[in-house]
Formats: sequence, C-alpha cells, structure tokens
Amino acid sequence: MDKELIAPCGMNCGLCTRYLAMQNDVQSKGVEISYCIGCRPKNKKCGFVQKDCELLRRRKIRFCYECPDFPCEKLKKLDDGYRKRYRMSMIENQQYIRDYGMEKFLEKEEQKWKCPDCDSVICCHNGLCYNCKIDQLKNTKDKNRWKQ
Ligand SMILES: [Zn+2]
Repeated sequence: MDKELIAPCGMNCGLCTRYLAMQNDVQSKGVEISYCIGCRPKNKKCGFVQKDCELLRRRKIRFCYECPDFPCEKLKKLDDGYRKRYRMSMIENQQYIRDYGMEKFLEKEEQKWKCPDCDSVICCHNGLCYNCKIDQLKNTKDKNRWKQ
C-alpha cells in the first residue's frame, strides 16, 4: 500500500477497480476495464469532491480533514454511497489517518483488503482479487458490485 494512492477524500486508490486493472494488466487477459494510475499520481481534479472545493482545487489542503468544514455535505454523500456499496468509508479513513498517522492506516488497509488466497489486494468495488480471481472477474457482468 502506497500513501501516494490515498486521495484527498480518503479513498484508497490502491483498492479501486481501475487502478487494480492497470496494475494487473487485466486488458491483456480479456477483461475490459479502463486503467487509472490513481487520483494523486494523475494530479487531476477529483470528480467527486475537488471540483466543488476551492481549498482542494488550490491545493491549500492535502486531505479533507484539514478543512474546517470536514466532513462537508459533498464528502458525506460520497461516503454514504461507499459505505453502502463498497464496505469502506472515506470519512473513517481520514479520521484514522488524522488520529493515528498514515503508516498505521496503510498497515490496517493491507490487512483489511488482503486476498486470503494469494496475499494480493482485493478490490473494494467488487470484492475480487485481480491477481488470482481473473476468471471470475471476466465472467462478472456488473463489475461495480459485490456478489455476497
Ligand atoms: Zn488473490
């Protein structure tokens, strides 16, 4: 797990379907998912929070928790969807980083998302490991939903 992959909103891009697709080169294995190197490495405006946030846009803050309005309505809305669909919370991630530091957070993430079969990383968008469950991934229609 890499701290440069923790986005300003608290998203761990290392768990994202588009990042894992790139990292495991799934397109060469017949899986059609577009690639992304992560929000921070991409250095682009985040589509969820940043476009509405001047502090983030002007890079006055590195994480939302540094903002006096944390957590703002925009972040709460994003967070709510992720809690319901993807078994994680950007707000909780940021609170953990704020209270315990990045290093501890990354350790916790590594344990939480470790594939039980190959020690690679499980995707938060569908619960699949892009290293050893590639066939399952290929045969899954809705790749942005957990099966169980
Ligand atoms: Zn695996």
